[in-house]
Amino acid sequence: MNIAIIGGGPAGAFAGESLAGAGLAVTIIDEKLAWEKPCGGALTAKALEQYPFLASGEAPKRFVDRAVLVASSGARACLRLRRPIAIYSRQVLNGLLLDRARRAGATIVQDRVVEAERRDEQWMLRGKHSEYTADFCVVAAGARNPLRHMGASLGRDDTYVALGYYVPGRPQAHIEIQFRNDLEGYIWVFPRTDHLSVGICGRIDSRGTPWLRHVVEDYMAARGIPLDGATFYCHLLPSLEPASFERNRVEGEGWAAVGDAAGLVDPITGEGLYYALRSADLLAGGVREGRVAEYARCVRAELMDDLQLGARIARRFYHGRFLFDAVTTRMVQFCRRSPAFEDLMQDLIAGSQTYRGLKERLWRQFGLTLWEIASGCLRPSHEPFEIESPV
Ligand SMILES: Cc1cc2nc3c(=O)[nH]c(=O)nc-3n(C[C@H](O)[C@H](O)[C@H](O)COP(=O)(O)OP(=O)(O)OC[C@H]3O[C@@H](n4cnc5c(N)ncnc54)[C@H](O)[C@@H]3O)c2cc1C
Repeated sequence: MNIAIIGGGPAGAFAGESLAGAGLAVTIIDEKLAWEKPCGGALTAKALEQYPFLASGEAPKRFVDRAVLVASSGARACLRLRRPIAIYSRQVLNGLLLDRARRAGATIVQDRVVEAERRDEQWMLRGKHSEYTADFCVVAAGARNPLRHMGASLGRDDTYVALGYYVPGRPQAHIEIQFRNDLEGYIWVFPRTDHLSVGICGRIDSRGTPWLRHVVEDYMAARGIPLDGATFYCHLLPSLEPASFERNRVEGEGWAAVGDAAGLVDPITGEGLYYALRSADLLAGGVREGRVAEYARCVRAELMDDLQLGARIARRFYHGRFLFDAVTTRMVQFCRRSPAFEDLMQDLIAGSQTYRGLKERLWRQFGLTLWEIASGCLRPSHEPFEIESPV
């Protein structure tokens, strides 16, 4: 079988490596190849444990074992992460994955696919520079997939805008997440090897992208993060509404979609890299074993059902109230005072706490959490590390 993969980001490159490694003829077509795609670049412990080469290889990356969560009220919780996360520059990560695909035998071409048409069980792909034929097409063109008849169909309510700045300099050692009561999303500060990635993600609403930019710039000014020399970035992030998961198209006649092009992003955290890799893995396994038709079922059972549940929780998480304050504020306060709640937060940051199990776990340990908070209030609280200046 001759396979064309449209898009050579993490999803396309990883699918390409696995399919070419199984002896299939694979061509990956990407308009930019390895590039600094706007992204935080954070890989959770779940991703690093499932795909250990991402943690062990020589490609430059930053391991981070400290996180600071800040509520709208200014309350903060400092966590020493038991399972560190790795932060990559996307140019490095994409380059690493494309190299692995090339070494596995995939052909990699720089071109932009503008049209895909199926004729007599064959795909005819028209690129800006050349034409390609294939028996099977993997759609991995990301959130801005231009092939409207293949992959997730993202409506206005199914996306977040994510924008921010890359700030040069020797960055702080911790990640920072700032919540705001007026934002369905959050601000992040992620240290990379030689710069900071600062950004904000939020649902597109009447305040528009300029408001998000204004908020992140205000935040940077308040935190002493210089705009001088910083590079602006902006992109879309799929964040499907619960109903959109029901009608989400991840495969069709002769094609399957992976990663952002399949809408596979966590609607609360915005994590997409794990889902890009995992969906590519599931698809490649299906193709290798001649069970492509199983892909949609596998991706729904393993990934999409839980992401859909996340989408149901997202509004309540960002805008809801609990015990007379914002849910996110309570979360930060609980995290600071209750070891049991901090354990839960550690698992959420590591990516190993499913939304399916979250509600049950919260209720199961609710009594213990309250008891720990009450008894903790009698002790002076301390922070496990000192907060450094950002750059
Ligand atoms: C600002 C921001 C911050 C983020 N931070 C994180 C984070 O810290 N951690 C995390 O896990 N996730 C994060 N995400 C999500 C993550 O970036 C995506 O989920 C991930 O990149 C998806 O990988 P992908 O391969 O599906 O798509 P992409 O990485 O978008 O790759 C798609 C590729 O397709 C190519 N392409 C597009 N159209 C065509 C075409 N017509 N022809 C040929 N090539 C084409 C592009 O050049 C690109 O290389 C963030 C997203 C944004 C926007």
